[in-house]
Amino acid sequence: MAAPVLGIDLGTTNSVVAIADGRQSRVLADPEGFQLIPSVVSFHPSGDILVGRTARDRRLLDAQNTVYSVKRLIGRPFRSPEVRTARERFPFELTEGPTGGVLVGARGETYTLSEISAFVLRQVRSVAEFNVAEPCTQAVVTVPANFNELQRSATKAAGRVAGLDVLRILNEPTAAALAYGYGRGSRERIAVFDFGGGTFDVTLLELSGEVFEVLATAGDTYLGGDDIDVLVADQMAEAFLEHHRYDPRDDAQAYERLRAAAEWAKCQLSEKPDVQLRIEELAYGDGGISLDLTFALERPVLERMAQSLVARTFDVCEDVMRIAGIRPTQLDNVILVGGSTRMPLVQRMVTEYFGRAPLEGIDPDLVVAQGAAIQGRALTAPAERKSLGKVALRRITRAEHEATRPSQIAPPRTSAITPPDAQGSPGAPPTSSGPAGLGTLPPVGAGLGSLPPVPAVPPAPPLPEFGDSAGSPPRPPVPVGARTLETPAFAAAPPPLPSFGNAPIEDAGVLPVGPAFSPDPEVAERSLERASVRAPDLSVLEPAVPLAPDAPEPEMPLLLDVTPHSLGIETVGGYCEAVIKQNAAIPVEQTRVFSTAQDNQRLVKVRIFQGESRRFDDNQGLGEIELAGLRAAARGRVKIDVTFVIGADGILAVRAKDVETGKEQDVRIKLVGGMAEDDVQRLVDRQAAMLDGGR
Ligand code: ADP
Ligand code: MG
Repeated sequence: MAAPVLGIDLGTTNSVVAIADGRQSRVLADPEGFQLIPSVVSFHPSGDILVGRTARDRRLLDAQNTVYSVKRLIGRPFRSPEVRTARERFPFELTEGPTGGVLVGARGETYTLSEISAFVLRQVRSVAEFNVAEPCTQAVVTVPANFNELQRSATKAAGRVAGLDVLRILNEPTAAALAYGYGRGSRERIAVFDFGGGTFDVTLLELSGEVFEVLATAGDTYLGGDDIDVLVADQMAEAFLEHHRYDPRDDAQAYERLRAAAEWAKCQLSEKPDVQLRIEELAYGDGGISLDLTFALERPVLERMAQSLVARTFDVCEDVMRIAGIRPTQLDNVILVGGSTRMPLVQRMVTEYFGRAPLEGIDPDLVVAQGAAIQGRALTAPAERKSLGKVALRRITRAEHEATRPSQIAPPRTSAITPPDAQGSPGAPPTSSGPAGLGTLPPVGAGLGSLPPVPAVPPAPPLPEFGDSAGSPPRPPVPVGARTLETPAFAAAPPPLPSFGNAPIEDAGVLPVGPAFSPDPEVAERSLERASVRAPDLSVLEPAVPLAPDAPEPEMPLLLDVTPHSLGIETVGGYCEAVIKQNAAIPVEQTRVFSTAQDNQRLVKVRIFQGESRRFDDNQGLGEIELAGLRAAARGRVKIDVTFVIGADGILAVRAKDVETGKEQDVRIKLVGGMAEDDVQRLVDRQAAMLDGGR
């Protein structure tokens, strides 16, 4: 039998791996029985690369070379506010990569964030292989629903670097809903409230038999339990400062210990009303005297500190309700996902907001991986063909339904491109974006008439730059349903997995202080591992309706997801035009016509973005697409249909075609911080060599 597809929840804090057969999905544990694999990578002085729990222990000893919370930074441009904040907060070194992404520096080497995540994924993979005793090379990897194109692509690249063929990038809340609803056959509307270490997401879904349809999703990729830890750590630092006239925030290593202690205290307070802790040798005073911190915290105090952060999750909930056009009390169930939902404060506020208590009996740490495993099974099971047929059918039905509504079609618009050398030349259209800017052109009327007139995604409102109302109707999106999207093939056979991460840390001979922030380090350890070893009832997820041993498998689930952000192109004056709108059902495709702005223009560049603002700079610039090898002709004569496709995993693909000749054009997407295929291959080789060499 072929090895199962791994369902991987690649978390900010912890990662989890599960596999599913037609009857159940099962979370896999490492040889010591732990199911949560800390998403931490530590570069040991011996050259070993530690991953998981051994790496997490190094955070307290070797903060500079121990990398964590990478998910908060992956796919973010170096020059983003988030990375700026992270550079202040994180003890490890962050630098700018050649394509504008982020590199991590440790022990004289630099690594892309995809590489760091790949180390984690390799560890995850080796846990799976330990369980199934055969090579596992295929996976479904989950991401926050709110992740944009850059973040999704970087995650997919991480999978490749780890030797995994990522069959699908799946949204975490959708995965959770799947794990909950698979085999249940119910009809209900649910909210998945996912509050983890680094991110918050809320997704509304409608379950109808085996169909899981996302109604709306919203999130904040910079809101999580880590932020609560920082508040607590700051309070500890203040207390220490007051006592010893020394600010531990000035010492990265000391601050790291504070944060770990803060997290420990926070988790304790989910179970009990107060907590005391002591951190020995946090700093040294005059004459080398060791300065210790003693700190006590009560749950109500923690709750007052965390209140406004938790409240921000409900602003996001309000957004999602508005998008879906429903009220919180109209939902049938609420599922909690993510470690931070263990806080009693969060549970109370959720109950109040939705007017009902969240569902019990679902493990917030494991459910996402379980759903991913079910999806992995669905993608490879024979029943799939049938299922995909239904997706297409359903999409078409929906489009027809919308066709009966009066359509509000925006005036047609056509975008033209100024060539790289047109900037500032007399008569050239104004550009806003340097060499890649768009110019204006009169509308193009050709080649648009052959598709059904009803867009499933409403066209963008008219933009002043394109106010000309004559011309052709806008091209509607084509539901692509069952179409398989082409993904570039990374053919490299995964290298054999060396087992790493188990190097004894004593090797280093540099262990001056232990993590003595608790009177009982054992308790601290157990607390942070709290959910790591669980009763089997929650880590093996059976379909809701128990199956007789000889009953057929429940029908494979169908997922209908949405894209979290509008995708669009830059227009003149630094404005944006959405091509695919926020919350559009995916997969989806939309075509725009571009034409040349100069005689004999051979190359066209278009800047692309994700976001909801009219101004380009307020959105997330993704990079640009390049149309190369255009036919030589007079200005405006070459018209190119550019089709933007968002696939089932939310990842962008672009096709282009010369309208007149029908010839497919070369098109390249250059993402900020993105990697070309040979870059990825280089990283695959480098990682394999590093791990072999490190043994
Ligand atoms: P992610 O999906 O971002 O990796 P997780 O779902 O693993 O995150 O959640 C990790 C977050 O949950 C951390 O901030 C951690 O401190 C917090 N957490 C875990 N257990 C508890 C608990 N018992 N009480 C409060 N917070 C918790
Ligand atoms: Mg999570």
